[in-house]
Amino acid sequence: MHTTALVLFSGGQDSATCLAHALEKYQRVETVGFDYGQRHSVELQVRLKVLAKLRAQFPQWAGKLGQDHLLDLAVLGQVSETSLTREMAFSMEHSGLPNTFVPGRNLMFVTLAAAIAYRRGLEVIVTGVCETDFSGYPDCRDDTMKAMQLAVSLGMDRRFLIETPLMWIDKAATWQLAQDLGGERLVNLIVEDTHTCYLGDREHRHEWGYGCGQCPACELRRRGWERWHEASA
Ligand code: ZN
Repeated sequence: MHTTALVLFSGGQDSATCLAHALEKYQRVETVGFDYGQRHSVELQVRLKVLAKLRAQFPQWAGKLGQDHLLDLAVLGQVSETSLTREMAFSMEHSGLPNTFVPGRNLMFVTLAAAIAYRRGLEVIVTGVCETDFSGYPDCRDDTMKAMQLAVSLGMDRRFLIETPLMWIDKAATWQLAQDLGGERLVNLIVEDTHTCYLGDREHRHEWGYGCGQCPACELRRRGWERWHEASA
């Protein structure tokens, strides 16, 4: 029976939902975030706000939520030419992947998370990767995560579990999961304080939260919100 977890927490809708899931399920939960020279540091600011609000508004979780770790991964900006880290327009590449793809990013995230989990004595690594409703990033696939679980467990001689609560659900179901875990209060927190927009837009407020409303990340978040409301109407 696992009781401790480390959540990869970026400050977005998906990872905030995963964090709530972990707080509901485990006794001790820590978080890790990565600063890799994102074009906008909005994500890094909102993640602290979300953590503070979770502590303040969910007394049943506050005592379980431990240390937050922020790792400097500027090196990712050096090895990738993507629209996440450079001033480039979004487009699709010949590979069929959007140019927001940073090759190997999640592999690196999981490896570093496992190193922290090892040091902190945490058994489960929780990540919001999703194969169902995403841009087709190959490092978000279930097989990739299973391979990573094996690699870090063998390589660190510690049996880690990589848990992916969102792997087989779409964005509408992700909103529903937040509702199930923390009710309207959690949904409101996610709408108001998590950030998904690639452009770092915190000016335009929509029903589903802040964002430019145009980029692929906003699009996905909006569509999920709409489908969720249609389904529950
Ligand atoms: Zn956007």
